[in-house]
Amino acid sequence: MRGVTILGATGSIGTSTLDVLSRYHERFRVVALTAHHQVDKMVQACIAHQPRYAVMADADAAEQLRGHLARHCPDVQVLAGSAALEQVAALADVDYVMAAIVGAAGLRPTLAAARAGKRVLLANKEALVMSGRLFMDEVQKSGAELLPIDSEHNAVFQCMPRDFSRGLDQTGVRRILLTASGGPFRNQPLSELDHVTPEQACAHPNWVMGRKISVDSATMMNKGLEVIEACWLFHAAPEQVQVVLHPQSVIHSMVEYLDGSVLAQLANPDMRIPIAYALSWPERMASGVASLNIFEVARLDFEPPSLERFPCLRLAYEAIRLNGTAPAVLNAANEVAVAAFLERRLAFVDIPRLIEHVMSQVSVKPANSLEAILAEDHLARQMAQAYLKTNTTAVL
Ligand code: NAD
Ligand code: MG
Repeated sequence: MRGVTILGATGSIGTSTLDVLSRYHERFRVVALTAHHQVDKMVQACIAHQPRYAVMADADAAEQLRGHLARHCPDVQVLAGSAALEQVAALADVDYVMAAIVGAAGLRPTLAAARAGKRVLLANKEALVMSGRLFMDEVQKSGAELLPIDSEHNAVFQCMPRDFSRGLDQTGVRRILLTASGGPFRNQPLSELDHVTPEQACAHPNWVMGRKISVDSATMMNKGLEVIEACWLFHAAPEQVQVVLHPQSVIHSMVEYLDGSVLAQLANPDMRIPIAYALSWPERMASGVASLNIFEVARLDFEPPSLERFPCLRLAYEAIRLNGTAPAVLNAANEVAVAAFLERRLAFVDIPRLIEHVMSQVSVKPANSLEAILAEDHLARQMAQAYLKTNTTAVL
């Protein structure tokens, strides 16, 4: 019996994780669930999975949850605040931690799970982007297992040789081909992007996801963050990670070996597949996802991405080449920009402009402590807010 904590249990990944776990009550026990403010969803999840702990963002939300749970599951202990997130990520009887909080808010609890030597199922790519070296060092020190949930990285993980800890060159791998759907605006005339709305940006052609990652997919910052994520996870140099536009989202990524062989992982676009794989690794278990109908797929298309159309991808490559705190600054500026876009305070095309502005203002420092990283994250957010104040072009 494995004990599981789900950080971000009410989100898109959290819900898919609970769906997979609900098929395996005899193998996994849900120990803790966390959520930001969604009390109703948390009530449902607690009733269905009877965790020992439920964590909410603040005392108000926790009090509301307690009120609802008193009748249905009085044994659930309701906690509040960020220290409680770290606590439930490191409990002694927790073996697996699903890190599925969105954004920088997930960094501390994800790091706590790594430090405690858990199997970390990493969906929260922003945590790794911000703290790459530090995070990988903690994993190494504690003996934690790091299993990528991002579909592309999960696909790469499935196609890599078992031990890739010495880097691509030492493992017979030439490069990683990271596939990307190109999002909803892959073919939209550039002149029309000025008037894109949050609703249009969140309508992803192939995946149903949270709003932040949906906007990131539309700008392709998501793929940029994933390039950085791939560099850390697989010990790859940025030039060894090639982004490939593949609109069908059937191949989830590929690994090219020195002899010219290319291995790919194909599947229906459903996050329950990487989740089930990471829960059962090195074995396999059913995920609840239907067979891939290869005849219906019929064809697979590929094209190189345009950095003119997707400047966020260029900025992400720049950040990982600069290294140090640059990826944390990129991530922080992006989080502020995306939130402002979703609140209709920033135009879609101004998202990369804001990020580039912030990156040009903040100098790169060594990312050798959590404090140093969080200080730059904070500074970048302040710069981004200042940019928003001075660029008040009317939006939609
Ligand atoms: P989501 O918005 O649907 O869910 C986010 C979860 O985090 C919710 O449970 C929410 O309550 C919680 N949360 C949000 N802000 C918080 C805060 N400040 N403090 C504590 N908890 C907070 O997001 P999602 O789509 O499930 O994505 C989660 C993570 O997984 C992201 O990092 C995303 O990049 C990554 N990811 C998602 C998908 C996908 O298919 N959705 C695919 C690959 C990677
Ligand atoms: Mg992905």
